[in-house]
Amino acid sequence: MLSYWEHTSFIHYDFIVVGSGIAGLSTACCLKERKPSASVLVLERGIFPTGASTKNAGFACFGNVGEITDDLRHLTEEKLLKLSIDRWEGLGLLRKRLGDKMIDFQQNGGYELILHTDTYDYLAGIKQVNSLFKPYFKTDVFAEDKQGCERFGFNKNLVKTMIFNSLEGQLDTGKMMSSLLQYTHHLGVKVISGAEVLEINETSQSVEVMVKNQVLGEKEVINFKAEKVAICTNAFSKRFFPDADLEPGRGQVVCTSEIPNLKIKGTFNFTEGYYYFRNINNRILFGGARNIDYDRETTEEFALTEIIQQQLEYYLREMILPEKKFTIDYRWSGIMAFGKEITPEVKKASDRIVAGFRFNGMGVALGSKVAERLTDLLLV
Ligand SMILES: Cc1cc2nc3c(=O)[nH]c(=O)nc-3n(C[C@H](O)[C@H](O)[C@H](O)COP(=O)(O)OP(=O)(O)OC[C@H]3O[C@@H](n4cnc5c(N)ncnc54)[C@H](O)[C@@H]3O)c2cc1C
Repeated sequence: MLSYWEHTSFIHYDFIVVGSGIAGLSTACCLKERKPSASVLVLERGIFPTGASTKNAGFACFGNVGEITDDLRHLTEEKLLKLSIDRWEGLGLLRKRLGDKMIDFQQNGGYELILHTDTYDYLAGIKQVNSLFKPYFKTDVFAEDKQGCERFGFNKNLVKTMIFNSLEGQLDTGKMMSSLLQYTHHLGVKVISGAEVLEINETSQSVEVMVKNQVLGEKEVINFKAEKVAICTNAFSKRFFPDADLEPGRGQVVCTSEIPNLKIKGTFNFTEGYYYFRNINNRILFGGARNIDYDRETTEEFALTEIIQQQLEYYLREMILPEKKFTIDYRWSGIMAFGKEITPEVKKASDRIVAGFRFNGMGVALGSKVAERLTDLLLV
């Protein structure tokens, strides 16, 4: 029941991108930057992007010693270096596209906390990872920071020492996504939110993208048409690729009240990146603990659970902010995409359909890089 006007002005596009997270919006921007005459539509099921891109911690990171040494057990050094460079270059593309001021990018460095309870000798990994990274970064990226624990006021009974990475940065996720959306509009991309894609069908002439019409009811489906389609639905991609190496992973996050004289500045993680925290406007944003309830956190459902929330509060009060008075002002969750393979999937499903997903919790870094690869595939 579309009107003549809707048929002629709203339905047909050169490209349709499904999902308005960082990967989807960056793909739409990249397409318009390279081919300004193309008509591009982004379809987003939520009112905001509703996955990970507006829920994350805003680390502009490319790996830490714990994670990298663990990854090296499954990946070759060559593949791991390439992945780390992709993350670094992806951040460069994001910063160039939006500008450091717009995303409040700050290079305050990143720290890995080594706990007394850690059984793995992370310090021993520094040398291996530095020699792997040095040919590209031209410097020893990681070094032990013995005074960090004291400087930041962490509980020395729990934190043994720290590893510093001077190249790591942080950004304001809200500003990043809102300026990316603004830039997308500025380029002339149409973004429709509240548009859940139910099905994508390829014909010999085009691709049909069926969207639920929220207002007219369940049975009313709008059938958008495009020459080509990019699917950027990350953790929610099984709907389109049931056999993909992909499982969702929920990340729960808390954010404290403002804390006077907060000394903590930078990005911090421990337990191979399963826990992460940072300063943001005199508050501490802290997330993670997925590893303590792995099965229940392997879900697409946005929710908070007592076990994870209690664990986060324990570390905040006992280790990160001992003797500081604060309350928890915000709690939320977001959904990431993981797989056995730790590199993202960039898929050419057919001549007309491509997909980019499975960012393994590092899509802020990788989103713009994957968008470039998807655009390469779309513009051939
Ligand atoms: C708590 C948390 C902390 C994180 N911290 C960091 C960090 O510090 N640094 C970092 O690099 N990465 C971090 N990440 C990971 C990063 O946020 C993600 O990798 C990245 O946002 C993925 O972007 P995306 O666009 O692929 O996916 P998403 O942001 O999930 O976007 C996918 C979009 O597709 C939409 N969609 C899904 N299905 C449909 C459909 N059928 N029809 C229409 N639309 C649909 C969703 O609503 C969603 O908006 C974190 C993630 C979480 C959850």
